[in-house]
Amino acid sequence: MSRVHLHDLDFELFIPEAEVNEAVARVAAELNVKYVGKRPLFVGVLNGSFFFAAELLKRLTIECEITFVKVASYHGTSSTGKVTDLIGFNERIEGRDVVILEDIVDTGNTIVHILDLLRDRHPASMSIATLLFKPDAYKQQVTIDHVAIRIPNDFVVGSGLDHNGLGRNLPGIYRIIPN
Ligand code: 5GP
Repeated sequence: MSRVHLHDLDFELFIPEAEVNEAVARVAAELNVKYVGKRPLFVGVLNGSFFFAAELLKRLTIECEITFVKVASYHGTSSTGKVTDLIGFNERIEGRDVVILEDIVDTGNTIVHILDLLRDRHPASMSIATLLFKPDAYKQQVTIDHVAIRIPNDFVVGSGLDHNGLGRNLPGIYRIIPN
């Protein structure tokens, strides 16, 4: 399938499944070296990271654990505007080597909020692995440690990413076709 229609938008195949798999395997190889002899806790950010988490973890040879976190964004009344909360996250991460798994890092605001919230729970270390990264949109200073694929500033779906709930099941990455 090279074109798909989701709700009101059209998308075209941008990165085929085989290329996504190769990129995920590269990140897995990095992590297999970095965490050898350790037992990292992977924290997948729902909903989008389920795909990357599954594809990544089946390629890891190190001892590891995984859990998932859901993030709530809402507009508070404080001057900080957007506030992000971790929903129902009761995992003890104190003293653990934590690797946060994201589907995509765009401006970086979400991942920085998550890092701040997890830091309060005193992990031994934290790093970030993401399936997709948009360097041209990124506004934060934090280094994204492990990036599978860098993409331009276009809206994409597939491999866990959605457009209003649709498209997460598409293998590969699809890019929006401008009207
Ligand atoms: P941030 O700007 O905070 O890094 O990213 C916020 C969220 O925007 C991501 O977690 C993701 O849900 C969504 N997002 C950003 N770029 C895209 C994209 O190209 N496609 C989809 N489906 N979601 C995106």
